[in-house]
Amino acid sequence: MRIVAVNTHLVPIPAQPPYQWRQGLPGSEPAITGAIIQVITDAGIEGYAMTNRGVIVADIVARRLAPELIGADPLQKEWLWHRLWELDRIEEIPLYALGLIDIALWDITGKVAGLPVHQLLGGFRTQIPAYASTVTFGSLEEYLDVADQCLAQGYPAIKLHGWGNARRDAKLCLALRAHVGDDLPLMYDGSAAFDLPDAIYLGQALADAGYLWYEEPMREFSVTAYKQLAQQVRVPLLVAETSDGGHMNTADFIVAGCATYVRTSAGLKGGFTGAMRIAHLADAFRLRAEVHGDGLVHQHLCMAISNTTYYESLVRTNPVVRAPEIDAAGFVHSPTAPGIGFEAEWEAQGIALPWRSATNGKHAKTTARRSPAALTD
Ligand SMILES: [Mg+2]
Repeated sequence: MRIVAVNTHLVPIPAQPPYQWRQGLPGSEPAITGAIIQVITDAGIEGYAMTNRGVIVADIVARRLAPELIGADPLQKEWLWHRLWELDRIEEIPLYALGLIDIALWDITGKVAGLPVHQLLGGFRTQIPAYASTVTFGSLEEYLDVADQCLAQGYPAIKLHGWGNARRDAKLCLALRAHVGDDLPLMYDGSAAFDLPDAIYLGQALADAGYLWYEEPMREFSVTAYKQLAQQVRVPLLVAETSDGGHMNTADFIVAGCATYVRTSAGLKGGFTGAMRIAHLADAFRLRAEVHGDGLVHQHLCMAISNTTYYESLVRTNPVVRAPEIDAAGFVHSPTAPGIGFEAEWEAQGIALPWRSATNGKHAKTTARRSPAALTD
């Protein structure tokens, strides 16, 4: 089997309802141009991936990746993944773009095998609990109200994205613990808001409140800063979500002794191949590899990775609307379609496949009527 074309189809993505990540960071996206990557083989099997950074990805695919891929065997994913990392030396490929081709190649592999990708990756479970991962809300009272709604809808755990103010966030985290009682798993995500002194202050409060993990309090470029943080707080750290260098950088965090949990994802760590490499690396050190972000691709990863705990389900609105993939008991279940299963999901979401509407009119509109799941939250 050979790859005969790699196409990038730009798709308009409407503006999201407004929300925010901490003070100083934008949250909801305005109307943007996304893209569906389409890898076509001479066997008539196609693989897909989607990004919400369509213009940048279209340039990289057309100029750098498509010439490399056309003529290659799409099942040689490991070799092509290494080639991509090699091309990164000259291109500095954005993390969110690095894994898209690998995702599409796994989609092809699943369709060839007639199996969902999570079973090809290993197949560890068929359901997993989802935690409610809040955006940033306006007041302490609103957070507590949102937490009550999350619990009422079946979520068995809650992660806060706070305001990014160490003292104010410490009060919020302690108040939430007092509000929900001692037994509910709680986590905190700083979205890299702090320097080391503020990260230590907040980490001590999180330890006092018995939080399960303390995620990304600082930018992840200094392993040394994280090592110092780990030496001064008792709460377990979750690290290496956005750090450059994928599995290689994660290894340095682990060896430095600052990781109890590491982040893994197809969106920011090099596709399924990169995400599984990090999961296995963490497993060897008896660490957990928690999957970053929601969406179909990450549902596959959650079913395949043994040393992971939860599926991350973004709660972007108040009133809280439970994500459609989560059941009333708070679980997400394994996808069943061969490959990844994008086609059925896009059909259900009203996202037209642009090349189909262009060629045979099967879909009347090329406009995405709902926002696809962002890969960069
Ligand atoms: Mg995070």
